[in-house]
Parts: sequence; structure tokens; C-alpha cells
Amino acid sequence: MKPTFPLQHRLARRAEALFPEVQRLRRDFHQHPELSNQEARTGRVAGEYLAALGLTVTTGVAGHGVVADLVCPHPGPTLAYRADMDALPIQEKPGQPWCSRHPGVMHACGHDVHLAIALGAAKLLSEFKDSLAGRFRFILQPAEEGLPPGTVGGAELMVQQGVLADPPVAAIMALHVAPRLEVGRLGFCPDIVMAGAEQLRLEILGRQAHAATPHHGVDAIVVTAQALTLLQSVLSQGKDARQPAVLTFGTIAGGSRFNILADQVALEGTLRYHDLKVREGVLGRVHRLLEGLCAGAGARYRLESQSLYPILVNDPDLTRVALDILRPLFGPQGLVQLRPVLGSEDFACYAQKIPGFYFFLGTRSPDGEDQTLHSPDFDPDEQALTVGLTAAAALLTGLSREGAQAAAAK
Ligand SMILES: [Zn+2]
Ligand SMILES: [Zn+2]
Repeated sequence: MKPTFPLQHRLARRAEALFPEVQRLRRDFHQHPELSNQEARTGRVAGEYLAALGLTVTTGVAGHGVVADLVCPHPGPTLAYRADMDALPIQEKPGQPWCSRHPGVMHACGHDVHLAIALGAAKLLSEFKDSLAGRFRFILQPAEEGLPPGTVGGAELMVQQGVLADPPVAAIMALHVAPRLEVGRLGFCPDIVMAGAEQLRLEILGRQAHAATPHHGVDAIVVTAQALTLLQSVLSQGKDARQPAVLTFGTIAGGSRFNILADQVALEGTLRYHDLKVREGVLGRVHRLLEGLCAGAGARYRLESQSLYPILVNDPDLTRVALDILRPLFGPQGLVQLRPVLGSEDFACYAQKIPGFYFFLGTRSPDGEDQTLHSPDFDPDEQALTVGLTAAAALLTGLSREGAQAAAAK
């Protein structure tokens, strides 16, 4: 095990002392949640906080995003830390004094926690700036939860707008709250973390006729019912059973009147996978099954698939170094290896370009019940703020030190 260096312990002690401030930030963001691509107040508050710390702040990146650089006196790499900013259209269950003040909008995915930790890390590192090397870039990103129809944004647009360049960013990190992991623990995956995601739109097209004479038309509802049953077999029969994937249709709509044969049914769904070959194989089989079914039934179909997020993969070397940095601070018990999930996350857009490390922050109270994200009673244990802050600061400073030493050795 690599011994930790004294600065890490000073940072950890200072992170504890910063708890009231980080808690205040988190509660302020929690009270003022904003939906994807509407994070105007969040961006303004965060930008002003970072500017007051002396960071070089750029606002209005990819919408309401904020990029802030802390430039240190010693030469070293540029490292990025990303936090997402948006909330969800959920009515929070009242209870806590810091409950959402915006009806129908709630930080139910913990992005308030992510933001407060990023701002706390910026403050902590700015206090230790004179003994640090390189540049730390804080990337506060809007619209992680998905783009409102017809809008652009999120991580992909942040990358297009150059947040990983000028100077080139060597590595990027981010965390996500994990409500089933006990507070004090960090979760990680050594390679694949989350799934690639595809949005599907399927239309089954029949031919209208009087409902009393179905033999004169093609009933799109009946064909759709058969299609859905057939498509269930794509995952069970059409791919290697050891490969995880999900094919789910979340909406269905069709027909116009009780006594008219439906000529059209539209479905929307999602395909998730950990391997691009699985994606190609599943989509190919979906097409073959639909072609066969529609040919037999006299129907037609249209299938559109749009890639939402790439597969999120942690860089193996960065992950190894990151775990070496975290282990002395959190102990072997504090780091929990998790299995990859079929959820997805647009942090993958950064990790596709440069080495990335994405990890999980336990937020379950020791005596608390399991909670789930995206639910009206999600209420993370705030002790996690200090854990997240300590981890973020340790990773940024530890990796910066590694990078500076590696450069000096060349
Ligand atoms: Zn979410
Ligand atoms: Zn989230």
C-alpha cells in the first residue's frame, strides 16, 4: 500500500471543519431545485461562490454550466472534478426544514450534495493552494437527468464547448450519492460502471377498417401485442446470457376510436448494455423479428434508435491510483467494490475522451432504512458531505502530486 502524505491528513481535518459551510450550501441548493437546463439560480450562486474564492470562473457554459479553474503556483497537470446541477420533477415529501421551496421540483438524485461537495473542495483546495501543483478545474454541469425535448445540453455539449481543453485536462472525476451504501463508505467499479443507453421509438403500422370487419384491414394493436411478446425473447434467446442488457418499453399509444381498427401504435423504450456488440446484436434481432412478424401480418414498422449515453467505463490505471489514494484515508472496509448497473450517466461523455474515475458516496444512515433515488422521500445522511469532500480533495491533490512527480521524473 502506498503511504499517504501528510497534506492528505491536514486536508481531511479541514474537510471536517468545513462541514457547517458545505451543509449550508447543500441545504440552499436543496431548497432551490431547478429542472434540467433551467439551473439559472444554481449556476449564479455557484459561480459567485467560486469567484469569491479567487477561482477563474466561466459561466453560461452549455446553458447554465459553470467552469472554474484554481491555478496553483507549482507546475503540474490539469485535473477536473465534475458535479451535476439539475433536479427532478418530483414533489418532495415534507419533513425537513430545508425541504424544496419549488412545488413539484426536488433534488431527488442528490445533485445538491454533489454541488456542495464540489464547492467545498474548491474552497478547501484554494486554502492549500500554495502547496499544490497544477490546475484544478471544477465543472458544474447542467441537464444530467436528460434533455427536455428539442433542447441541447449536458455533458456532451460541455465537451463540445471545450471544458476538457485549454489546457488539456489529464483526468476527470465525479461521485454520485448511493442511498443503499452506508455513510462513511465509498463504492467503486474497476472498469465498467454504467450502461450505454439508447432511446427507441417503434411504430407499428396497420390499415384502418370498420372494427366489425377486421378482415378488411390490419389491426396494429394486435400486431403490437405480438411484437411485444416476441421482443421479450430477444434478450433471453438472442444474446449470450452472460451479457447484461435491458430492453424496456415505457410508453405505448395507438388507435383512435373504439370501433375503428387501429392503423398505428407508437411505443417508446430504452435499450441498455455494457458492450457495443450486444447493442448491435440486440438491434439486429429486433429488426429481424419485426420484419418477419410484419410480413406475416401485412403490417409495417418503423424503428428509430438514438444513442443517449455511451457506456461509462472507469480508466483502469486511474482507478488503481485513485484507490491507492483513498485506501489509507477510508481503510479497506471503507471501499466497497460494486457491480456495474444498467442505469446510465452522461459522465460517460467525458470518460470517453480522457481517463475518468466515477465513484459512489454512501448516504444511508447507519440506523436508517434503504432509500431510492428519484423518489419523493430521498433524504441522504448529511454526514456523507464530509466523506465526499475528503475523498474529492484527496483524489485531486493525490493525483496532482502523482502527475507532477511523473512529469519531474521525465
Ligand atoms: Zn438521477
Ligand atoms: Zn443523479
